[in-house]
Amino acid sequence: MSRLRFVLIAALFLVISGPAYSSEKDNRGISLIVIDPGHGGFDSGAKGPTGLEEKDVALAVAKRLKELIEKKTNIKVILTRDGDYFVPLDERTLFAKNNNADLFISIHANAARRNAADGFETYFLGLEASDDDARAVAMYENSVRNMGGKDLRESDDLRFILSDMLNTATLNESSILAEAIQKGFERVMKIENRGVKQAPFIVLSGATMPAVLTEIAFISNPAQEKRLRDTSFLNKISESLYNSILGYKKIYEEKTIPIASDERAEQKQ
Ligand SMILES: [Zn+2]
Repeated sequence: MSRLRFVLIAALFLVISGPAYSSEKDNRGISLIVIDPGHGGFDSGAKGPTGLEEKDVALAVAKRLKELIEKKTNIKVILTRDGDYFVPLDERTLFAKNNNADLFISIHANAARRNAADGFETYFLGLEASDDDARAVAMYENSVRNMGGKDLRESDDLRFILSDMLNTATLNESSILAEAIQKGFERVMKIENRGVKQAPFIVLSGATMPAVLTEIAFISNPAQEKRLRDTSFLNKISESLYNSILGYKKIYEEKTIPIASDERAEQKQ
């Protein structure tokens, strides 16, 4: 990549995201969550064998989850989209940041060439993908960036941008949230737990709060696509996410994990 191109991309990113970690919070409470239904509009995401689209599954789960959280707690939830329209990837985390959100959760459904591929997995941001599958998932989820006309390849340009933005404590919190989500799914889904993974997702890259991307099931798997059409299964997934978020909130608020802002404060000294 040319130096000029890198400088331009880096400048663009700074304009989009502002200085990293500028909006620190003093209290440890979780009062606002941004839920991001993946894809939307012209970007339908992955498609199942009989035509079910990832964007619709993601929105259905996100809406249910918002309703559950707001009905049962005093946490406020805002969605990055509440209808079938496209929102650029970097605007999604920017939206969370501008709203001073405490958590960012992006909801997706997985796809693979192999119809038999099965299971659920949850990601947090990493410069390197955990494995080849994780790399493929990130490339797929990042590919809409190219559809939008901006040429940002995850393999080189993104790495430069991300290397400056990774914050150990925030990543640690993200990994704990991801683990809680996986444990919750394990209890309600009778499919493989593919684990917590890391990969360079554009949609997570601007987040200054704990942020995860969950792939709830393989829409490309005929049996799972059928389940994803079932309202009671979507309810189950949403309830599981709700319970995991509450579990994470408890750990977070009891100060049993390092808090990002402590580290940020130390770094400033
Ligand atoms: Zn997706």
